[in-house]
Amino acid sequence: MYHFDYREAPKGVKPTRGDFARIARYLLPAWRPSVLILGCILVTSLLGLIPPLLIREIIDRAIPQKDGALLTWHVAGMIAAPLISGLIGVWMNYLVTVMSQGVMFDLRDEMYGKLLRQSLRFFTNIKSGEILSRIQNDVGGVQGVVSGTLVSLATNSLVVVTTLVVLFRMDWRLSLIAVGVLPLFILPTRRVGQIRSRLSSQTQERLAEMTSTVQETLSVSGFLLARLFGAQAHEGNRFREKAGAVRELQIRQSMAGRWFLMWLLMFASIGPALIYLFGGYESIAGRITVGTIVAFVTYLGRLYGPASALVNVHVDIMSAVALFRRIFEYLDLPVEVADPKNPTRLPHPRGELRFEAVWMGYEEGRWTLEDVSFEALPGKMVALVGPSGAGKTTLTYLASRLYDPGRGRVTFDGVDLRALALDDLSRYTAKVTQETTLFHASVEENLRYAKPDATPAELERACRLAQIQDVIENLPQGLATVVGERGYKLSGGEKQRLAIARVVLRDPRLLILDEATSSLDSRSEALIQQALEPLLEGRTSLVIAHRLSTILRADMILVMERGRIVERGVHTELLARGGLYSRLYEQQFSGAAVST
Ligand code: ATP
Repeated sequence: MYHFDYREAPKGVKPTRGDFARIARYLLPAWRPSVLILGCILVTSLLGLIPPLLIREIIDRAIPQKDGALLTWHVAGMIAAPLISGLIGVWMNYLVTVMSQGVMFDLRDEMYGKLLRQSLRFFTNIKSGEILSRIQNDVGGVQGVVSGTLVSLATNSLVVVTTLVVLFRMDWRLSLIAVGVLPLFILPTRRVGQIRSRLSSQTQERLAEMTSTVQETLSVSGFLLARLFGAQAHEGNRFREKAGAVRELQIRQSMAGRWFLMWLLMFASIGPALIYLFGGYESIAGRITVGTIVAFVTYLGRLYGPASALVNVHVDIMSAVALFRRIFEYLDLPVEVADPKNPTRLPHPRGELRFEAVWMGYEEGRWTLEDVSFEALPGKMVALVGPSGAGKTTLTYLASRLYDPGRGRVTFDGVDLRALALDDLSRYTAKVTQETTLFHASVEENLRYAKPDATPAELERACRLAQIQDVIENLPQGLATVVGERGYKLSGGEKQRLAIARVVLRDPRLLILDEATSSLDSRSEALIQQALEPLLEGRTSLVIAHRLSTILRADMILVMERGRIVERGVHTELLARGGLYSRLYEQQFSGAAVST
């Protein structure tokens, strides 16, 4: 059995060729804009070479020769070069943004699709904030990788190369001095890179923790829990601790960068100083012109800036690889409950459910269901009873293939559920539980979720059968009233009836029902009972029974204890046997407990 641990963030990022190849595959579909972008970068880096040459001409020719026209033309050139380069930059920025947003769209789309196909196990094992953080922050970070890391890598490399070419052509000895200072930039890089990468992945983890704490606690259920248990101070401390960890890490991350920058700035000033020293002597000796020295030092600014940025790019690449790995980790999630390649079709489903020696465990080495076998014939009702934690809900999960059995098989009309298309399966089976989820949408849209092409007459019939028609008619905008998390608040009983209407529309062959244990008032209860009647009629049903009427009418009662079916039969037989069922009956179903 696969054991999931999604919280593990990749550590010790050591980019491999495989990483780069895969990242390139995502970026490559956008090769056309990439070529254009590279072209822009090349042109702007060449344009950047012009101003220092003009400066040299101004100092060495225009001023000594007192040539005003030459001076004006050169100055105009000095203004025009950055202007043109700026205009190209704007266009390039547009191309880069379009490209990176395209890549992000593809990644988000693929990731969301993959997450939709995950099993219930995945969602029960993961913090909801974590998913959000990967879709928002990690995929969001791709923009930075493309427009920041990749573009600056290309820009800086081209600027460094073109500048070096010009420098060596101007004066190779001064160039050697300029280049000699470069190792001072590169040597401390590795260490700082490691520190920053470690801090950055730690910060990501802590940020994700902080986000999920916020989501967990600042929601209706989280607030109620904290408020009713008087745990607000405790939650406050817990949050402070997490936010504090983020603060410490971000300060450290920022400082690691700053120290680095300080050294870079210091080394960057050594270069020009040395050029003035040696260049000055050379000029005194009449071997080079003043204009050359000034142009040389101006070029140095172009060399050291990009060279130091390149050093940082190396660090950024590691963060980018870590980022992509977190994204790929999600894209590579195994699909545990997968659609079959060639699904078996059932043109006329009868609704026969069968469990054949089924074993199932949530965790390795611990079975929650053990050797469960039974059948629910078409149109018959099977009731599940048993103490809390016996495995009743788990059994219903298997019937709707939310999990696959570890051993044995579950069949519908004799076909293994794993051979049925998931879409078909969800058309044949429906589940009504105590907890009803309504979307933030109109009543009608909520109903149509079950059958998008339902006619108004069908909608009305479903609502009438589910005893919810009167309530809907009295809503402010009738069927168009928005319900759900931020909408009109329906009562618990009304929500359940709406959910039942949804299932009526769906018209499944197998109904899985978890009877309410929570106490609704007796009128609400009676309405739900009435709503369920037409739904149960003529369908196979698997019911987690909490009501006397249900167990009395069930065609078969399965009594579960610690994952096994320990007794089975109809009410009278089981009662006569005097086993677990009769004890449960005494506790749960007889006398005053009937209405619960
Ligand atoms: P109740 O009547 O209280 O709802 P139940 O009979 O429906 O109980 P299940 O919900 O099926 O029982 O749970 C059976 C066992 O499986 C319990 O011991 C429970 O703790 C365990 N269990 C349920 N869900 C998970 C999960 N996602 N991961 C691990 N264990 C789980």
